[in-house]
Amino acid sequence: MTESNVMLITGGSRGIGAATAIMAAEAGFDVCVNYASNREAADEVVRRCRELGATAMAVQADVSNETAVVDLFEETEAELGSLSCLINNAGIVAPLQRLDEYSVERLTEIVNVNIVGAFLCAREAVRRMSTKHGGDGGTIVNVSSAASYLGSPNEFIDYAATKGAMDTMTIGLAKEVANEGIRVNAVRPGVIDTDIHASAGAPDRVEALRGNIPMQRGGAAEEVAAAILYFTSDASSYVTGSLLNVSGGR
Ligand code: NAP
Repeated sequence: MTESNVMLITGGSRGIGAATAIMAAEAGFDVCVNYASNREAADEVVRRCRELGATAMAVQADVSNETAVVDLFEETEAELGSLSCLINNAGIVAPLQRLDEYSVERLTEIVNVNIVGAFLCAREAVRRMSTKHGGDGGTIVNVSSAASYLGSPNEFIDYAATKGAMDTMTIGLAKEVANEGIRVNAVRPGVIDTDIHASAGAPDRVEALRGNIPMQRGGAAEEVAAAILYFTSDASSYVTGSLLNVSGGR
């Protein structure tokens, strides 16, 4: 950790982001839990973080909206102090479809949230954490997906491609800011038991895919959060530009 221990988690109200917020609070971080619309879920995560002794806050912001993202970072620092860690976790999937069925609306939305949103948040983090800009350094962890190397045929190739973009950003940005006190890494979760599958119209997806996973089970959000926390800790002090699969061997 840098001297401050302030973590901003995009999409921290549910799933992997929520598990990360709680584990970070346990590890001594103060946390900003960003969410898109589910205020109740975000408030519950904040409550649990506070129970663990952290200072915590919830902030609504759509990561694909530039003004909202800038406000999110400003509010976080005004309330919690200098940012030391960004978890670029907010992400969406679209209903399972073949590529020959995609609409331009579907493509635009997924690119805006998963790629533009991740880049905007990384930009704001670098502007604050880079020693080049007078910051104290820090860590960025991108939540990519095993989809980036599997391609997700007959499900969501567009989603997989947005995660490919996130992997590329991880590698490029890690090199760009390596000498400015910032480490940038990514986790690539496999099939993890969260609400995201229901939002793709496949609430039973984890169970349905179990047989395709070498470990023969879906993962838990906490198992991804543990890998994320590794990248934010001094245990990974010489690790940057890494893509860590958390996928049960898939
Ligand atoms: P989830 O349970 O569906 O939660 C999504 C979170 O993102 C929620 O907190 C949601 O806020 C927030 N969110 C959605 N759109 C947003 C936006 N435009 N701006 C800000 N926040 C937004 O998802 P999850 O499964 O935890 O996934 C988290 C990340 O892991 C995603 O990037 C996903 O692609 C990646 N991932 C997941 C899996 C998996 O199997 N679950 C596998 C590989 C990668 P609200 O609560 O307000 O809606």
